[in-house]
This record gives sequence, C-alpha cells and structure tokens, in this order.
Amino acid sequence: MAHCSSCSAPLPQDSIHCAYCGSRNDTDLAGVHYYTTHELESERVCPRCTIKLKTIDLNVNGRFFIERCDECFGLFFDPNELEALLEATVTNVFVINRSQLDSINTLKKSEYGVSYIKCPVCSTIMNRVNFGVKSGVIIDRCREHGVWLDGGELGHLFEWMKAGGKLLQQQREDEQRKQELRELERGKRQQGAQSASGGSYTDDSGFDLFGGSARNSDPDLFDIVVKAARFFLK
Ligand SMILES: [Zn+2]
Ligand SMILES: [Zn+2]
Ligand SMILES: [Zn+2]
Repeated sequence: MAHCSSCSAPLPQDSIHCAYCGSRNDTDLAGVHYYTTHELESERVCPRCTIKLKTIDLNVNGRFFIERCDECFGLFFDPNELEALLEATVTNVFVINRSQLDSINTLKKSEYGVSYIKCPVCSTIMNRVNFGVKSGVIIDRCREHGVWLDGGELGHLFEWMKAGGKLLQQQREDEQRKQELRELERGKRQQGAQSASGGSYTDDSGFDLFGGSARNSDPDLFDIVVKAARFFLK
C-alpha cells in the first residue's frame, strides 16, 4: 500500500489524495525504479493547471522522456510511449486474474469527472478513450501528439498490467481476429455458392433446351390427341 509522502498515512487505493493531510502524492512512478528528473521546462502546458510541464527521463531501455506536471502529477506521453513503458516495466505476467481486473475496473474514479481537456502541444480538444479492456482508465488522446494521464492513472495501469489486463486484451483481440476470419470465410463460401449457382444457370439453360424440346413436343402431343379424337369421333 502506498503512503502519503507528507504525513505517511496510508493512501486510499483509488486515489493520490491523502485523506488525512489533503496533499497530493506522486504514486505513478513508484513502479519505475530508476527514473531521474531532469526538470527541464518544456514548451508543453498542463491541460489541468495551465502551467508548463517538466520533462523527466524514466531511463527505461535507455533515455525515455515524458512530460509531467509538478502540480497535479499528470503525465503526457508521445504516441506509443505509454504502451512501450507499460511493456518495459511490467513483465512476466502469464495469468489473467479476473477478479482483480474486475475490482481494478470498478475502482478507478476520475477526480475530474467527465471533462474534455486540450492537447498540451496543439491545444485542440482531446478524445476520451478507454484504455485497454477492463482497465477502468479513460485516457485523453490527441491523435497526432500523444496521450494524457491524470495523476494516479499510470499507477492504475501498472496494476492492470500486473493483473493480466494486457493478456485479456490480447485474448479478446485474437478472438475478434478469428471471428473476422470466420466471417471472411463465410463470405467467400457464399460467393462460391453464388458462382456455383451461376454455374447452375447454364444448367438452367440446359433445362431451357429441354423445356424447349418439351414445348416442341407439345404440338406433336396435340396432334396425337387431335388425331385420336378424330379417330374416336369417326
Ligand atoms: Zn498526508
Ligand atoms: Zn497539472
Ligand atoms: Zn495535439
């Protein structure tokens, strides 16, 4: 359990706010052991506090720069950086702990509620996107520049990874891919059946020929009936 850095009281599981002294705690990077802060001021601005973000180096697989806000401890990742950090930090997970994932999914409540914030780089309103299956974290994403995590959300995603959330997601994606393949196969079979029935149209024209010959025989039959009738009427 994480403890408040100011008063050492245990922190609520779903929050970075200390219930005792009210201070905000930076719990996110506890999972990243060797990060160093370069404290470089970046041109990027915190979408919550509108102050400049600081650049920090997480030292994951070499240099790994992200931006952090000193006020709210929100983090900004360039495209694909968040996934790379999760992959590099949480390893050796082979089991999906579904009950844990369920509690992780319901635990996370954003302290900001439903709000739309601006991209720290281009200031356009970011999209709210569910991160992964059952993570309970809604990230803010600018397609071009990256994703914003509010304070506490990265730690939450680490927990999600450890509980096998990524595995569950991969499973779902695999199932989806298989389903798509099955549908593709079914589509092909239907097409095949259609072209086969297209082949049977030639059979139909065969029937037509037969039908034609049958029609041709009709007058013969008529002739016979007429002749027979004439014979009996004589
Ligand atoms: Zn405290
Ligand atoms: Zn901030
Ligand atoms: Zn942007």
